[in-house]
Amino acid sequence: MVIRPASEAVAKTGAASMRQRRDPNTLANYNEWHTTHTTTDFVIDFGARRLKGTVHLTLENLAKDSREIVLDTSFLEVSSVRANDETAEYQLAASRVEPYGTPLTVSLPATTDLTASHVTLSIDVATTKDCTALQWLTPAQTSNKKHPYIFSQCQAIHARSLFPCQDTPDVKSTFTFNIRSPLPVLASGLPTGPKDFRPGEDGKSGTLLYTFHQSIPMPSYLFALASGDIASASIGPRSTVWTGPEELTASQWEFEEDTEAYIQAAEKIVYPYAWTTYNVLVLPPSFPYGGMENPVYTFATPTVVSGDRQNVDVIAHELSHSWSGNLVSNASWEHFWLNEGWTEYLERRIIAAVHGSDQYRDFSAIIGWKALEDSIAQFGEDHNFTKLIPDLKGKDPDDAFSSVPYEKGFVFLHHFEKLLGIDKWDKFIPHYFTTFKQKSVDSYEFKATLLDFFANDADAAKKLQKVDWDTWFYAPGFPPKPDFDTTLADQCYALADKWQALAENHKKSDFKPSAKDIESWTANQSVVLLERLQSLPNHPITPELISLMGSAYGYESSKNVELVSRFYTLGLMSRAESVYKPTAELLGKVGRMKFVRPLYRQLIMRDRKLAERTFEKNRDFYHPICRGMVEKLFEKHA
Ligand SMILES: [Zn+2]
Repeated sequence: MVIRPASEAVAKTGAASMRQRRDPNTLANYNEWHTTHTTTDFVIDFGARRLKGTVHLTLENLAKDSREIVLDTSFLEVSSVRANDETAEYQLAASRVEPYGTPLTVSLPATTDLTASHVTLSIDVATTKDCTALQWLTPAQTSNKKHPYIFSQCQAIHARSLFPCQDTPDVKSTFTFNIRSPLPVLASGLPTGPKDFRPGEDGKSGTLLYTFHQSIPMPSYLFALASGDIASASIGPRSTVWTGPEELTASQWEFEEDTEAYIQAAEKIVYPYAWTTYNVLVLPPSFPYGGMENPVYTFATPTVVSGDRQNVDVIAHELSHSWSGNLVSNASWEHFWLNEGWTEYLERRIIAAVHGSDQYRDFSAIIGWKALEDSIAQFGEDHNFTKLIPDLKGKDPDDAFSSVPYEKGFVFLHHFEKLLGIDKWDKFIPHYFTTFKQKSVDSYEFKATLLDFFANDADAAKKLQKVDWDTWFYAPGFPPKPDFDTTLADQCYALADKWQALAENHKKSDFKPSAKDIESWTANQSVVLLERLQSLPNHPITPELISLMGSAYGYESSKNVELVSRFYTLGLMSRAESVYKPTAELLGKVGRMKFVRPLYRQLIMRDRKLAERTFEKNRDFYHPICRGMVEKLFEKHA
């Protein structure tokens, strides 16, 4: 059975009204009040590990009869609220409404004019130790180990643990950031400072006020800041990279060749880049995750800097969010595929454009399909979270996070490209991104806009009539698998077959591995080869073959963590002692859980003492979430 949310009927009649509450993951009464501008005045206190200051929300009065403004908060200390500079009564709910936090209800003073178009709330606020949006790193967790570091991650619903707000992607506001810190600050706006130096007290370092402005309305989840010992270098006419001074030159080299080419490729597919500059902040090595598309400054994992320019596709992805997600945003996390499916689609179009061949995009899509299979296997084929539009009422959107919105969303858009033909589809892309520019959009508006765009094209309209929208939107499990070009993947499988034959029947095989085997390959092809060899039954690869592969293909000296971590994992599985020490060394340099988890799992099984020594040595380097994950691995394999 298909249950269709009531909002579809409304959306079909035209643009969604702001009086409609489309997002089930917020407690704010955003149908009555709508934030139009947010100013955050914060001091970063590294000693106390908190942000403290005042947040000013300018809210448009939509209902004209509501004296109550309900805002999202989570683990915040609120000490005073003013409405248009008059003291206002406020109440934090007595208990949390899980998983959405503690609603803050502000009662406007009797003197507040409800016929006025806007009200400004000023809220004195401090974060607490339970804040879920901030990561405070000790000097030991940074690469030069000299200064502390802080960065934020607000997606999906963590902005509410930084300041009271309407924490929904269905509300977009312009932003002013005023952030005082002893160390350089970046935020998701264009810099307008720094200014106003103040000397420190009691021998502490002085502070500067770092200011930024974001004139394009954006949802609260794109609020971002970072502060630490960072420096910048140019990577293109409108781009800089920011990272620790020691890593700056390597990071610049990694990105300077491709960044502008990617921006131009994306502009050809959609339209000109809107956010003025596109910059990349490379986070410290203990950063446990991949990346985040914060406007103006993409936050990226340091493993993107691999010394071979082979992981720049992460940049193509985050850059694509400048259109899909940041300029045109999903109206709620139930429609997350409109952010991530579109972004996968644009990322792969950029890769195809830059390489001049669809083979590369299909290779990426084949890897994506494997990720989709893994996610669906993990949830189960009938699970709500495997739907393109899951039901998230009462749910934490972070629990639903998986490859499904990325890859099922990609396959859906790829389906339209093939159905309509690329020439027609390519005319729709800029139309869609123009129609919803600076707005929030749901799947029903996407559908209505697509049907409307081709209404007068009899051939296209007829094809679109055959689309089974309900199945695409609400059926759990797999979408139809597209017919991908398998040329690049087949090369990986064929080479894996040769290694398998060599391992299983050394005498009969005439295979002589050499650098020529992978001469024309991308690093991702090597990743597919290595994963294929990891999954062989009975692990036939011997330590001698690992040494041969490492030297013949240069894997043992690669700086590419995507590649070398797979090589070490295969080596550990094959009991090749030559990789044990290099694995331990890598685990002291990389804190991204994607790599740390499989390497510890294997190292514990092969050489527990070395694994224990490695963990003790690097315990303080890892992020607390990563540290806890490794501790669990030791328990599991006790
Ligand atoms: Zn993304």
